[in-house]
Amino acid sequence: MLEKALERVLRRNYYNRDQYPPLALEIEEQMKVLRRWVEDYQLYSSFESFRVQVGLAMKELESKIGQLMALCKPSAGKRRIKKNQQVQEHLDLCKSIDAMLDHIAEYLEKWQSDTVIGIAIEKGLQRAFENQCIKKHEKESPPVSGRGEKTYIFACASKEEYLCLVNDKRRFTAEVVDKLNGYPHATGHKPSCTGPKEYVLIGFRPHDRKVIMPTGQQEQFPVRMVKCKNCGERFSLLPSFLPREKHFTTDVIGQVFQNVLLFSQSIQAALQNLTLAGVKSKQTIFNWLRWIGTIHPAAVLTRAGVAGSGYLQEDEGFEKEPNLRTYSVVMVEPKTLLVWHADYVDHVDEKTLCSSFEEFFQRVSFKIIGITKDKWEASTKALKAVFKGIWIGFCHRHCLKKFRQALMEYQEQTQCTDKERGRLYKVFKKVLESSTSQVSLEVKLKSLHEEAFNHPLLKVRLAELKENAHHYTCHKKREGITKTTSIVDNFLKSIKRKLTMAESFRDKEWSQILFQAMANTRNFVPFLPGAKNAHKSPFMLAQGQTHDLPWIQVMNFHNAFLFSANAC
Ligand SMILES: [Zn+2]
Repeated sequence: MLEKALERVLRRNYYNRDQYPPLALEIEEQMKVLRRWVEDYQLYSSFESFRVQVGLAMKELESKIGQLMALCKPSAGKRRIKKNQQVQEHLDLCKSIDAMLDHIAEYLEKWQSDTVIGIAIEKGLQRAFENQCIKKHEKESPPVSGRGEKTYIFACASKEEYLCLVNDKRRFTAEVVDKLNGYPHATGHKPSCTGPKEYVLIGFRPHDRKVIMPTGQQEQFPVRMVKCKNCGERFSLLPSFLPREKHFTTDVIGQVFQNVLLFSQSIQAALQNLTLAGVKSKQTIFNWLRWIGTIHPAAVLTRAGVAGSGYLQEDEGFEKEPNLRTYSVVMVEPKTLLVWHADYVDHVDEKTLCSSFEEFFQRVSFKIIGITKDKWEASTKALKAVFKGIWIGFCHRHCLKKFRQALMEYQEQTQCTDKERGRLYKVFKKVLESSTSQVSLEVKLKSLHEEAFNHPLLKVRLAELKENAHHYTCHKKREGITKTTSIVDNFLKSIKRKLTMAESFRDKEWSQILFQAMANTRNFVPFLPGAKNAHKSPFMLAQGQTHDLPWIQVMNFHNAFLFSANAC
């Protein structure tokens, strides 16, 4: 109840989770932990310390929610509500918390447990609560913090290189500080600080940065700071092998992404590999997945300075499960293999698809010119509604497959030979492939005088071809529109494989995180040796700037892990 009410307030103010204030995510996480505790220890709910702990935690939540309400401001374009309506909303939230507290207090009076066992259980409960809720909460704060935007990442792949650089002030100034101005996403300055920036070195951060290296050893690194000459804000400068806000080097985390998201490794197996490095809980890996799956792939690519050609393939994947339908909506660029959109939806009607495409549309700066897809009408309509003046090409393979199925039935009914069936298929295929325009396709269809094509089963297919003639031939006029959707189909296959394996992701939020995480990984990880584009990632095929860094560092350098609304 409380979670829903809070979500409503946030959704009214922001378009997506990236924009939520860090405090909101912290509250959300705390509620989850608390709920889990209540579920796990329900058996002891009659004990005093159970209720006192839960009560105190609720009180803390209440005060945080108060802070959040004061801090929430509608982002550009979102509707504002009146002050008294805001006050009322906050009161309602407080009321629902108070009702829960009253409920807890009621039980407190009823129960006393002064037996030896009772007292021991009370103590044990208190300890368990501290372990599960308080420590966890302190240790695993959400991946967002205000420091993020005051930390700049520069290209530097290894520890050895960094230690040389950081201890040589003159070299550091020339190679890092003087180049900061070229960074497209200067965040964290005072609002009044406009125009070009100039920075001066102001020594080191008071504490060295501690991280766990791929060897499993913890190491410390000094971190240099700069000050903006204009507005006086201070910034930390991190080499790309160190992430913002994480206890591990980017390379350790990147390896996990590659194994889990591309090579179908289970979370459990990934965890086993990490025990040496001191990772004990699956939650750490989930936190990492959230880290890479939070920002929309198009937003990451746009931040990284890549623009699309405007030509895409679109398709929806479907996974049927008991009581739940999962669809993925995916858009891939055939030329570079970049995945520009990967979303989770629970329906594939026009309205749902429209809002999914909108999410993508908001995040790109290039024009979408043409899309190849199957014949699904809802998505055709949604695409036309969102991307004005778009060219839509229908996939030839889908069409040929339907014709082949019709031929099989035709053969059963008429008992024609296999040879005849093959011949008819070739005739149809030739008409489809050789037509250069709507008119030429129509003319060719008209000249098919054979009796077989008058059979109702085949006639339907021909009629479909005629009806959609311009969709089947537009690739001849628009080079970027591919004839088939084979590339998006391939990516959908890998999503399907992962979904079947990852039972625990089956809630809406996690499915979306997982889809976006897969898309982001796919875009930046180079293809394996032996593949067509071996050693090149889609990002590289799109001429993205890599500075010869390992893929996860490329993402880090391009602020793929900077959770700040100001970065977009
Ligand atoms: Zn400044």
